[in-house]
Amino acid sequence: MPTESAFLLAGLLFVAAALGYIFAKFGDTDEEDIPSEKLSSDYMKGLNYVLNEESDRAVEVFTRMAELDDEALETHFALGSLFRKRGEVDRAIRVHENLIARPALTAAQKNQAEAALADDFLSAGLFDRAESMFLTLCDSPEFRLQGLERLCRIYEVTRDWQRAVETSRALDKARAKKSIAAEDTAHVAHYYCEMAEQAWQQKDTQQAYAMLKQAESGHRRTVRSLLVRADILSDTDKPGDAAQLYREAIEASPDLLVVVLPKLAAAHRTAGTAAELSTYLHELPERDGETTAAIAMAAVRDPAIENPEALGALQNFVASDSTLGQLVGAERFAKVDETQRLSIINQVRDALRNIITARPGYVCRECGYSCLIMQWQCPGCHKWESIRPIVKINLVSSS
Ligand SMILES: [Zn+2]
Repeated sequence: MPTESAFLLAGLLFVAAALGYIFAKFGDTDEEDIPSEKLSSDYMKGLNYVLNEESDRAVEVFTRMAELDDEALETHFALGSLFRKRGEVDRAIRVHENLIARPALTAAQKNQAEAALADDFLSAGLFDRAESMFLTLCDSPEFRLQGLERLCRIYEVTRDWQRAVETSRALDKARAKKSIAAEDTAHVAHYYCEMAEQAWQQKDTQQAYAMLKQAESGHRRTVRSLLVRADILSDTDKPGDAAQLYREAIEASPDLLVVVLPKLAAAHRTAGTAAELSTYLHELPERDGETTAAIAMAAVRDPAIENPEALGALQNFVASDSTLGQLVGAERFAKVDETQRLSIINQVRDALRNIITARPGYVCRECGYSCLIMQWQCPGCHKWESIRPIVKINLVSSS
């Protein structure tokens, strides 16, 4: 959803464009004539309607204007963009369709209006119409980059991963032609991981492995392919091999420990090698208290984790946090026997689970978007692999 500041910015951009147009008209004393004054008066009226949030009247005034010079055209684009950013997509569509219908537009202006209309369709979720317009726009050299970028987005949203791969490759080529650096993310590897997961859901092992091989063949890779491989091994009764890959994934991306540990613990339980997990957790390097916190968070989230090393990490995590330690009476841990200690830890983790499950457990490092479940692509900024688990427990809700 657009923020209030986005509305304000879009509004300011529109007002700046409209005022620029009006001042240009009034300041142009050499060519002052009645039609331009009429034009300016229409603009003042339209602008007034926009400022008073009478959007329908504003659209009516602007689309009724008979003639448009370049500055008036820019104002129309600003108005359309303002409506789209405010979520008033139907009005943006009316403004842009009105522009496209004008026979006096140059080919470049028509393309610009079509690109704006295609963006409206994209915002409205009318993906078929947006796709067909962007495909046509890709034939125009000025709009090829924008067209391919938007098509990638459409194929991501519609989960058409094969087309997303092809379009992304075409986009890299188009960027290289203009000496623009390719995007520095492993999004293509994620497209292949998505296809691998789809194939595995349909129990097509051969296709799943073929897609994983593709994911791992590019120079921008993702730890996700290791995790998908491990999940497949885990599902095919090879928990020992799966555990090995989960450990490799943690080594490659220690900040995913909260996500991977429940899977690793399950693999060790199935393989009957719980002692190995204890040794592994005990030897994990501590990173500014983050490792203990991540193991503790995984133990809180997954009640099936009974590993003594993980529960010990949870105890240390609670005791090292002054508020949590005070709240649960962490000093009791030293005064009770082992059975009582485990009983207290389990009560504490049940209580903590009740607190954290209702709150976002994951946050995007790029835009701050927070969510309840782990996602590989941020729904807020659409970046891949930017979401990471939150490894602290706030007792006071921020909402
Ligand atoms: Zn984000």
